[in-house]
Amino acid sequence: MNRERTLELPFYLGNNRAMISLGPLSPKKYCTYSCPFCYVHSGFLKYVNLDLEDIKSWLTNNKGKYDIIYISGDTDSFAKPRTQKALDLLESLIAFNVDVLFTTRYVFNEDELLRIKKINEQLSRKGRILFGCVSIAQLSFNHLEPKPIKPPLERIKQLKRFKELGLCSVLAMRPFLPIVPKEEYSEIINLSIGSFDILLGESWYADKDGVLEKQVFKTQPNYKIEFKESPMDFDNNQNIWKVWEGEEIRKFVCKKSEEMGFPFFMRSRPAIEWYRNKKRN
Ligand code: SF4
Repeated sequence: MNRERTLELPFYLGNNRAMISLGPLSPKKYCTYSCPFCYVHSGFLKYVNLDLEDIKSWLTNNKGKYDIIYISGDTDSFAKPRTQKALDLLESLIAFNVDVLFTTRYVFNEDELLRIKKINEQLSRKGRILFGCVSIAQLSFNHLEPKPIKPPLERIKQLKRFKELGLCSVLAMRPFLPIVPKEEYSEIINLSIGSFDILLGESWYADKDGVLEKQVFKTQPNYKIEFKESPMDFDNNQNIWKVWEGEEIRKFVCKKSEEMGFPFFMRSRPAIEWYRNKKRN
């Protein structure tokens, strides 16, 4: 059974990271977007909806327990209508003097990118890194990233802009999904090569009631795959999840990363450490 998050622990704190967000968009909807594979639709512990001052107080009270802050988790904080608020939050994190990572499917306009550039410059002056992750799960399976998410090609362009602005630009090809053929992952990489510093993949976590499977396989209702079962190691919910590790895709992308010479990780922590070491050296 899930337990509710509390004001003492409104977000995720663990593995030396604090993972925060703006919380659910409304009592009925977690996120502006409705990706059918997303665990927030089934069983994930909602983050608490706090105002910026309370988020900062929580981070201050827990200082020393994390070396990086993620704006990620249970909602796309940067999606409209909360883009400006999420940028305010991002800006306020400069004061915490740690690395910062944010994840989004939103495509920023030039004014917003300029703001991100300034935030990155201030973090850089402190010797800190801003990781900008752009999530892309498909090229031709539109139902997996439905409108108002902008098309994958626009998000690929954003990776390039992140790199030009000096961020660590991260292509988050997440999660790996069984209905997307490996040739399509290959195409995403070919279109993005030179625009990202790191590529991330991820297992797909589906609920045991089959809600997410039904949504993902809606165009192929007889689709059947084998799942493993495990809890999540990046959240405190106590559910057992059906996990599809996408082993064949992982191996395929791994081979491509060796051939083309880009760093590829399934988890963000080793990716962060790799980039920190690269900067140091
Ligand atoms: S944008 Fe992220 S949080 Fe929102 S529905 Fe999609 S995967 Fe879930």
